[in-house]
Formats: sequence, structure tokens, C-alpha cells
Amino acid sequence: MEEKPSLLGLTQEQLAARLSELGDFPSYRRAQILDWVWKKRVTDFEQMTNLPPALRSILASHFSLHPLEVQEVHLSQSGSETRKFLSRLAADGELIESVIIPAAIGRGGAHSERITLCISSQVGCAFGCRFCASGLLGFRRNLSSAEMIGQIFAAEKITGERVDNLVFMGMGEPLSNTTNLIPALRLITDPALLGLGARHITISTSGHVPGLKLLGECGIPVRLAVSLHGASDEIRSQIMPVNRKWSLEQLLPALEDWCAHSKHIITLEYILISGMNDSLSQADLLSAIARRLNAKVNLIPYNTVEGLPWSRPSEKHCRDFCQHLISQKIPVTMRYEKGHDINAACGQLRLRRS
Ligand code: SF4
Repeated sequence: MEEKPSLLGLTQEQLAARLSELGDFPSYRRAQILDWVWKKRVTDFEQMTNLPPALRSILASHFSLHPLEVQEVHLSQSGSETRKFLSRLAADGELIESVIIPAAIGRGGAHSERITLCISSQVGCAFGCRFCASGLLGFRRNLSSAEMIGQIFAAEKITGERVDNLVFMGMGEPLSNTTNLIPALRLITDPALLGLGARHITISTSGHVPGLKLLGECGIPVRLAVSLHGASDEIRSQIMPVNRKWSLEQLLPALEDWCAHSKHIITLEYILISGMNDSLSQADLLSAIARRLNAKVNLIPYNTVEGLPWSRPSEKHCRDFCQHLISQKIPVTMRYEKGHDINAACGQLRLRRS
């Protein structure tokens, strides 16, 4: 892990406590430091020009600033402007990936873009979902809170724009890293720091039941997306080994608890895989689950992953599956992934350099 902790990982209170341990500094120094780190985004302590040289040097000897360095940026050729970037972590040189997904919005003749950023929460992943390239790597380690936030800083530097929406849907199962995820969410949503509203943050989970409970208890009103991908234990366990640990019998009540306390409806992610989970009997079971949770369903035709045997159903079959849910009055969208050509789509993040 990082030898010196990054200032990106400290709350206002933690910074105040550390400063008082390090010397007798006036309280306004904390606000100045926060301004340099979170607003001006300096890359060197020497750039904090309104701090006395002695304080700059104390900070430099106890803390670091940026926990990662962008190594490569790949632009999708599909015209979607989706960009995947590969970063090297300062602490130990491990590599992670993040994806910038712009969406054009037009209102009253004006045209602008919203930036969604998909970030990683771990290096590799232990959960081994069978459709997922990240799972092929195995688990390496958890990301720190600062390493999660560093991906947002990097994306805003690359685009020159603020990130409008954040999804924890890159490498890793965020709910198996709640120790660092929850503090990161506090920093990201703090209006004096990053100030991104919790309703613009989505945590995507494979169905980590204890993590769901902890996330619910922390009281930050984020959105939740659940990778369901199978509507019966028999099918889901073949696609997602996590289902053998926390079956639908445990997962669905945990999600009902979540719904009881959340203002937002859950999204059930369902990758359509030919001959595996795309039968109409699975669609019926999926409808029943969606109705029970008052959830919406997001269908994602499978993306080919090199080294994995599955394939995408025909377009007609995907449409029929979708219609079957609609006929049962389930809110459903079908998402064809952006960035398929640069392996930046869901389940495709895998460390690969050009
Ligand atoms: S889908 Fe998520 S939880 Fe499953 S293996 Fe991939 S990164 Fe891990």
C-alpha cells in the first residue's frame, strides 16, 4: 500500500486531527490545504504558495497527493466518445482501468454533455462472474479511498469537465471493500470537497449480502444496481459463483430491506447470454423478482469476451425477451454497450495495454 497516505483520502476532520498532531497551525490552514487539493488540484506541495515553506515541507514528508498516474487513454471508434484509461497506482505499481462515458443532452436548443465515469474499486476481483474479464485476473488487492477518488480527478483532467455521474462498475466488487468504499463516498459527497450528490452515484454489486447491509447502514443515499443475470438459483449459480454463497433466498430479502430505506428504485442488471439465461421461463421469474422489489430491469446483450465461450442472442430474441417483460408491465431498458471495440463495456475491463 501507499507509503505516505494521500490527502485525497482524508476527511476534513481527519486532516484537522493530523495537522494538530504535526504542529501548532492556525485552523485556516486546513481550509487552504483543502482548497489546493480539491479545488485547485495541485500536483506538488510546492504549488501551495499561500502556505509557509515549513508547512509545505511537513506536508510533503507525511503525505502524498495523487495516488495514481494515467498511462494510456483509448478512445472508442464507435463515435460514442467513450474513453477507457489505464492508471498505474503510485503505492505499488498495480494497474487499474476506468471508463469515461459521455452522453449528449439537448435542452431548449442548447447542447451539452453529461459525463458518466465508471471506476474500479479493487485490483482484479475474487468473485469470478463467468461473463467478466475482470474476474479472469483473480483478486490482487482492495483500492484505498484515495485511489477511488484519484480516478475521478484523472477523468476530470482528461475531459476538462466535471464528472456528473459516478458508477462503481469497473474492476472489483465494491461491497467487498466497504472499509474503503464508504469513506470514499463520504469524501465524494462532502459539499466542501468533491460535492457530487449521492443520487448521482450508483454502486453495482454482484449480490454481496453483508456489504449491502453495511452500505444501507452508512446512510448515504446512493443508487443500487444488482447484477442478477439469472432469475433462478440453478441458472444464476452457473453464471455467478457468488450465488452459491449468497443465494436468491438470502439476496432478495436483503434487497427488500434496502428498498424499505432507499428513495431510489433498484436496477436489476441482466446480461442476455444465448442458450443460458434467455428463455422466456427465466423472463417470467425475472418479472416476479422485479415486481417483488419494485425494480427496473436493464437488459444487456452479452459482449464477447476473448477466452470465454458464450455468445450474444440474436437481436430478435433480445427484443422478444424484452417484450415479454414489458407485457408483464415491468419497467425495462435494453442497453447496447458503448465502447465495445475498446473492451470498455460492462464485464470487459481487463488490464490490457496496446
Ligand atoms: S462482474 Fe464485478 S463482481 Fe463479478 S467478477 Fe466482474 S468485477 Fe467481479
